[in-house]
Amino acid sequence: MDKDANFHLLGQLNTEFNTITAMIDLYCLHHHQPNTGKFQRCADCEQFRAYVKQRLDRCPYGEKKPSCKQCPIHCYKSQQKLNSQTIMRYSGPKMLVKHPIMAIRHLIHDKRAVPERNKQMTSNYKARKALVNKI
Ligand SMILES: [Zn+2]
Repeated sequence: MDKDANFHLLGQLNTEFNTITAMIDLYCLHHHQPNTGKFQRCADCEQFRAYVKQRLDRCPYGEKKPSCKQCPIHCYKSQQKLNSQTIMRYSGPKMLVKHPIMAIRHLIHDKRAVPERNKQMTSNYKARKALVNKI
């Protein structure tokens, strides 16, 4: 895993990351929080979130990324895939109430056709490495 978790995801990828973060937090809030009255993402969810970010960073479709549900590349490891399904199933329906704009954007994105891969497509990871090399 990338040691520096502070890298930036571009455009659509960042939007998707924010949406998934909201879903992780909804799940964590109702499953992993001690009764302190103050939300703090638990270590497991924090780790899962970092994993999601890394997968988004490496997605070869880059900003043209299809929804994970439709994607022909299965890039999640089986445990993380299971984890993701559990979180989505729980938080998906709640998102419409808590974060309607994110939820609707996500639903529209889910229906969009998978784009044909081409040479112009590059992962966020490769794009930011290329940028660093230019400086
Ligand atoms: Zn948690």
